[in-house]
Amino acid sequence: MNIDSYIRDVTDFPKKGIVFKDITPLLKDVEALKYTAKALADFIDDAAIDIVVGMESRGFIFGPMLAEKLNAGFVPVRKPGKLPYNTINESFALEYGSDTLEIHLDAIKEGDKVLIHDDVIATGGTARAVCKLVERLGGEVVQLNFLIELEFLKGREQLKGYDIHSLLKY
Ligand code: AMP
Repeated sequence: MNIDSYIRDVTDFPKKGIVFKDITPLLKDVEALKYTAKALADFIDDAAIDIVVGMESRGFIFGPMLAEKLNAGFVPVRKPGKLPYNTINESFALEYGSDTLEIHLDAIKEGDKVLIHDDVIATGGTARAVCKLVERLGGEVVQLNFLIELEFLKGREQLKGYDIHSLLKY
């Protein structure tokens, strides 16, 4: 299936110069939605994963679908102040300024095998911060997978040594 045709480019969103990859046309089409969830799950052996970690907010769409297919639990990583219980956090640099992400302190157990999922990998800063959160809690990052990889932003260079898969590359 050609899921590329369900991704809409929106120029100058959320700010001038960015070409935003809008996945909502793909989510709306039931065949494209089912195909994408299966293709992401097929990147990994289902016995290999205890927990799928998804980052706010579009990692929350396919993340739980993947968890269900892989017979794993789902853990959200969120922006500061959103998670109700005790958290740990990681800050990381953006092109201008910085950002912080949080995870619940008890979300991952020592030795848990973890799959990290998000819709898009751009510079890789977000994914790198999530790897650090998982590892600080004692989890093992088995794989990172993404629907879309913006290769020209070289996100993989921030994630050397990790197993990384993406369905669509631009
Ligand atoms: P980065 O930390 O640079 O890899 O950015 C990844 C995060 O930003 C992901 O959570 C994406 O959802 C979002 N993102 C970055 N660039 C784009 C883009 N061009 N289109 C859609 N989402 C993007």
